[in-house]
Amino acid sequence: MNTPPQNGRSGTGPRNLAILGATGSVGTQTLDVVRLFPDRFDVKALTCGRNVDLLAEQVREFQPECVAVGAPSQAQALERALSGIAPDVRILAGEEGLCAAATRADVDVVVGAVVGFAGLRPVLDALKAGKQVALANKETLVVGGALVAEALDQSEGRLLPVDSEHSAIFQCLLGEPDRSVEDVVLTASGGPFRDRAAETFGEVTVSEALDHPNWSMGAKITIDSATMMNKGLEIIEAKWLFDLTLDQIQVLVHPQSIVHSMVAFTDGAVKAQLGVPDMKVPIQYALSFPARWEAPHERLDWGELSRLDFARPDTDKFPCLRLAYEAMETTGTAPAILNAANEVAVERFLDEQIGFTDIPRAVERALAQIPVRPEPTLDDLVAADEEARRFVEELPLPASN
Ligand code: NDP
Ligand code: MG
Repeated sequence: MNTPPQNGRSGTGPRNLAILGATGSVGTQTLDVVRLFPDRFDVKALTCGRNVDLLAEQVREFQPECVAVGAPSQAQALERALSGIAPDVRILAGEEGLCAAATRADVDVVVGAVVGFAGLRPVLDALKAGKQVALANKETLVVGGALVAEALDQSEGRLLPVDSEHSAIFQCLLGEPDRSVEDVVLTASGGPFRDRAAETFGEVTVSEALDHPNWSMGAKITIDSATMMNKGLEIIEAKWLFDLTLDQIQVLVHPQSIVHSMVAFTDGAVKAQLGVPDMKVPIQYALSFPARWEAPHERLDWGELSRLDFARPDTDKFPCLRLAYEAMETTGTAPAILNAANEVAVERFLDEQIGFTDIPRAVERALAQIPVRPEPTLDDLVAADEEARRFVEELPLPASN
């Protein structure tokens, strides 16, 4: 991973931020961190998908130079929402707009907090433009990990993980020599259905699946946690971030979500990073690195912490985990097909068009039936994404009926 030098960014002024996906769960928590350190940040650009009302509120508070809305159809609504608030703010729209916001000359740190494939191109462009990217959008690495690695090699761009497990691994690796890692352990809460009988998964409702025991997150990642696709995506994310082979990445179910992940070294030592499950901590660290800034985030209460449990995941019960391993082993466009099929299946589940168990079924069918291209270009990835989306949109589900 091409991390920033440990002596920090050049310059001592505030970090000039572009927050892509500012209206989401990670985006709004990033702004909570900015509120804690108003002198250390200057927000230059904010983007959303469609939620122009929340974006307008954020503009009023943070006064960026530029905003972008992902859905071009919302550009006029955004203009109206901002007319009385910020007449001079530059308004952009569509993927091009997000890319322009991410590569502005006055931006040095980009927070990648868009959900899904839509985050890929803006992050790639930001890296190519030499930006430091604090990356939450794991789908970018799942789909385009090889292109991200290439962009990091060929530019001054730098990547810092925001995902809590990957932030934990990153912290465990600091100060350790190259090639000293034996393997890493990604912890997983197991989601809301960890202890539910698999035979009842066909009856899972949307509200049950959205009820995550430990983390409050956007809808898509919450469903991914319930199917454990989230952990599958995180395996692929870890592979690219830390240059690991798949057999160096283990998953352990850890219901308390206190140990965020662990690294085992070649001498038998293991390092873990622990904390209360609160995304503001890894978000802040990705922005403060290599410093740690004193902050009032909730502390672990050791007296309350009576036990930490760990168990191997059940891939029969959670087939998405197995499918993610298989897609990564196949490489090429397979992870893009896995990701797009999953995005559409999750949307269809949230719209109550298909059942919970149809999500892995749809992904498995897409992987089985859509031809995989080796060593894809960005255009190949876009084509694979579109094909897998169409495939799952048209799939006559529920397949279980
Ligand atoms: P949310 O759904 O809460 O927010 C997503 C953000 O992306 C919103 O600002 C949304 O805008 C915007 N967006 C959605 N679609 C588009 C699009 N097509 N074009 C442009 N912008 C778009 O997601 P989260 O914050 O939960 O997750 C963001 C990413 O971070 C995901 O990849 C997730 O896996 C990852 N992550 C999240 C964690 C969490 O705790 N939430 C933890 C670790 C990783 P709008 O509001 O207008 O819809
Ligand atoms: Mg995570």
